[in-house]
Amino acid sequence: MTASQQLLALHKFGGSSLADPTCYRRVADLLVSHSQPADLVVVSAAGKTTNKLIELYQLALSGADYALLLQQLAQYQTNLIEQLLHQPTSLLELLTQELAELEQWLTSASNNRSLIVACGEVWSSRLLAALLNQLGQVSVAIDARDFLVAQGEVTPIVDEKRSIENLHQLSESFIGQQRVITGFICRDEGGNTLLLGRNGSDYSATLIAKLAGASEVNIWTDVAGVFSADPNLIHEACLIEELSLAEAEELARIGNPVLHHRTLQPLAQDKIALRVRSSFEPDSAYTEIGKRLGHVGDCIVNGIANIELYLLPDNEKTQQLIHQLPQHGFFPLVATRHVNHILLGLTLEAAPSFEVLLKQHRAIAWSKHSEFGLISLLDAGVSWYRKLFNKLFAKESSWPIVLSDNGLSLSAIVPVKRVNLLAYMLHHRIYSPSKRIGVVLLGAGNIGRCWLNLFQQQQEKLEQRFGASISLVGIVGSSAALIDFSGIAISQWQQQFEQYSQPLAKQDLLSAFENQPLDELIMLDLSADQMLSDTYAQILSCGYHIISANKLAGSSASANYTAIKEAALANNAKWAYNASVGAGLPIQYAINDLVNSGDEIQEISGVFSGTLSWLFAHYDDSEPFSSLLLRALSLGITEPDPRDDLSGKDKQRKLLILAREAGLELELTDIQLTSMVPDALALLSTDEFIGRAAELDPVISSLYQAAAKENKVIRYLAKFELIAGKIIAKVGLEQMASDHPFAALTPSDNVFLIKTKWYQDNPLIIRGPGAGREVTAAAVQSDLLQVIKAVI
Ligand code: ASP
Ligand code: MG
Repeated sequence: MTASQQLLALHKFGGSSLADPTCYRRVADLLVSHSQPADLVVVSAAGKTTNKLIELYQLALSGADYALLLQQLAQYQTNLIEQLLHQPTSLLELLTQELAELEQWLTSASNNRSLIVACGEVWSSRLLAALLNQLGQVSVAIDARDFLVAQGEVTPIVDEKRSIENLHQLSESFIGQQRVITGFICRDEGGNTLLLGRNGSDYSATLIAKLAGASEVNIWTDVAGVFSADPNLIHEACLIEELSLAEAEELARIGNPVLHHRTLQPLAQDKIALRVRSSFEPDSAYTEIGKRLGHVGDCIVNGIANIELYLLPDNEKTQQLIHQLPQHGFFPLVATRHVNHILLGLTLEAAPSFEVLLKQHRAIAWSKHSEFGLISLLDAGVSWYRKLFNKLFAKESSWPIVLSDNGLSLSAIVPVKRVNLLAYMLHHRIYSPSKRIGVVLLGAGNIGRCWLNLFQQQQEKLEQRFGASISLVGIVGSSAALIDFSGIAISQWQQQFEQYSQPLAKQDLLSAFENQPLDELIMLDLSADQMLSDTYAQILSCGYHIISANKLAGSSASANYTAIKEAALANNAKWAYNASVGAGLPIQYAINDLVNSGDEIQEISGVFSGTLSWLFAHYDDSEPFSSLLLRALSLGITEPDPRDDLSGKDKQRKLLILAREAGLELELTDIQLTSMVPDALALLSTDEFIGRAAELDPVISSLYQAAAKENKVIRYLAKFELIAGKIIAKVGLEQMASDHPFAALTPSDNVFLIKTKWYQDNPLIIRGPGAGREVTAAAVQSDLLQVIKAVI
């Protein structure tokens, strides 16, 4: 071998690189700039020419009219020649002759399939050579049938020795000229045309490189090489710059479309380097296969949307069949033992001919299972990822996770519709090890907006602190939702919500998140929605976490409350609801702390409403209660319908939540509730109620007077106490001494008093602002922090 031969390269261009005149020019320019005259070139047929020729053949075979298709093909070739060559005449003449010949072949199509289908490569090699000559790069088109000799119709086996001799002889007459050779075709001893199979030009390229003693093959294509995943589906996919031959072979076996198993065969002994690179960006990075060993850690995720699975009895006959598979051209995607059977997985393309083979082996009883796809991971150190595979895929199907015999790939069989998502998740887990946490806001009212502001300010800091990506992935309103798993830009949430939100019925909430790709999903329930609170157990069963300011679930019937707690426990999901009582006041933390340290809570009481706290701190009978109430309404201190405050229902719920937190078992109805709204006013519309609010005045006034006589004040109290093992719980207006801590409360503040075994005579008191958007939003944010801390 001479020095110049050692440096010989081969450049292969596929059909899509030659689809139109611009593509041809790009290829020719690339050869002028990136190749040596002695380098070889191998081409496929231009664009979709092979498909059209096959179609033409089939039409002719079935006796259908093919004139129009033939005319289209002729037009396409003519157009390429005319657009590209300054002097097109001689090529056009040749084309005309060949089209006439083609028509001849079509009249007895069944005998001439290969001849017909081979035309595409003849045309493309000739045109590219002519174009190169026009550019001053002296070139010659070579029909591979002039040297490449093989045997066997279906999978031709090349006679390498003869082909090498032929190639050498032929090349002697073309010294100094660039040889542009047809891919895909060869001939047999008798001179008959043979085809190397669909997409066979890559194989032609590596084979011819081997015969010519080239040291490198460049497959120029429309992608920059082999990626860590399909870049069309996974934007984070990165280029893999080096692969060992064994890894490339395994990649082909697990169904990656970039390289075919056959293409790699000629590379094996001769240490030819194979480069897959982009003809659009010839100077950018590419993938090189074969020269070096692959790196551990350069993982490739490969997903196949659809495969066919076959279960065969595990016996000698099956074993024999499996041994013969490569001879028949089958390289199963999966082959493993599975519960007394052999499990084989094949591509949809290979399945029909595989079934023919199965039928030939009559005695083998087999069953077929469809609707599954395959996700594989390729890496020299793939066994390290077994745990991750189990975690991600074990629940997806009952099929086994398979480590390939060569130890280079792990594969999981998953339902078809989960393939893309799971491939994404696997890739993400490997390439961005930090967790992805998604937060969903349910209820975009006042508190929601406030929380969004808070979150926006803290998001970056949180991400840094926890080394995770933490983003808002959903805003769910009362009938529409904006969901974006890649994260909603909070600064523009309102605009985006208006523009892009989709109608979402509450019962469809969970299905909207069915395919979410995040590691953890946290739902913030800042609504007062009953239906939503009814789905908590389901939400937690999906493994999603809930933070609620909504009190309804915490104060629902015991059975439901217990079911929610159990769902959380069973699914390792968190449910935090500190914001539902006392906003940001650490009341629940205090209770939890006491209970956890062995103390016994005997009483919790207090003023649990900012509104009622404000009203009774100001009320002194000098102004009617109703006018004070309307003032509070206009200041935004009350609910839009003040009866929601006056009824005490809300306080009853809060007391129940705290009692349960203290370890007691009781129902809402166990808490005696005295509403301040007389029955006569209870069913009116809000406006009617406001119009008749003065009817409240005499009752409140007389209560106030009665208390004042004893030097006491009135406060709206919630309280439970344990008396001789019995729970006494009530909510309503009470008299109390004017020096009682509840009496001297700053208007709007909440107060919580906790009496325990240890805090008996001198009870623990927590007080401060217990309502309002800012403090409630802050409480939600604090719960969020706790949940993130727990799941990270
Ligand atoms: N032109 C042939 C085909 O389309 C061979 C190739 O492109 O690789 O299958
Ligand atoms: Mg709280």
